[in-house]
Amino acid sequence: MILLDRVTVIYPNKTVALSGASLHIQPKEFVTIVGASGAGKSTLIRLLIKEEEPTSGKIIVGSIDYDTIDKSNIPHLRRKIGVVFQDFKLLPNLTVYENVAFALEVSGVKTKEIKRAVPKILQLVGLSEKARHYPGEISGGEKQRTAIARALVRNPKILIADEPTGNLDPKNSWDIIELLLKINRFGTTVVLTTHNKDIVDALKKRVITISRGRVVKDEKVGKYTL
Ligand code: ADP
Repeated sequence: MILLDRVTVIYPNKTVALSGASLHIQPKEFVTIVGASGAGKSTLIRLLIKEEEPTSGKIIVGSIDYDTIDKSNIPHLRRKIGVVFQDFKLLPNLTVYENVAFALEVSGVKTKEIKRAVPKILQLVGLSEKARHYPGEISGGEKQRTAIARALVRNPKILIADEPTGNLDPKNSWDIIELLLKINRFGTTVVLTTHNKDIVDALKKRVITISRGRVVKDEKVGKYTL
């Protein structure tokens, strides 16, 4: 569950990035957030992963109230939320396998468990054949699959995909969207941001529209109407 209650973010330079934004996302939902550039989408995502603090308002994710969360609990929170970005953010000197394994290593997961989990997740995203390849040796779509595998291997409750198809051609974009739908069917909440009208309209899923830091539309079967 993701709950934002009248959240406002004012940056030190006085820019109002979010202005009394409220939204409620249930477990296992698939939600797309749309908004023009500068509308406040990235700020919203940074709030959810606690890279940004609200100036006012309340944020609750799962059972965690962001007002009272202990600093020592932030890694636990970040484990519950996987994030993938437009530019993949893979480590270029590590193979596909190692990029995914690294996410577990930094959380202190035992080698035996890593050896069990990584091949399973690479199979889920269709990358078993590319496990030994480096990011420089695979396509954009495969890079995004690697990033998704890395986010998923820690078993997050929520997957945030911030413009995941922004650097991909239409065919690869659809493959990634289908992968996100599959992950959602397995029970992970998916929060997608995209500027791709074709994708939003074809998804026929919930769409939250943000404009100038406000939620201006929230529709169960939404369309891209910017
Ligand atoms: P979006 O992701 O929808 O493009 P952002 O959340 O990045 O929107 O930005 C919302 C507003 O906040 C914009 O006016 C942007 O210029 C501003 N902004 C974003 N990050 C910062 C920051 N670190 N400091 C000051 N202003 C910022």
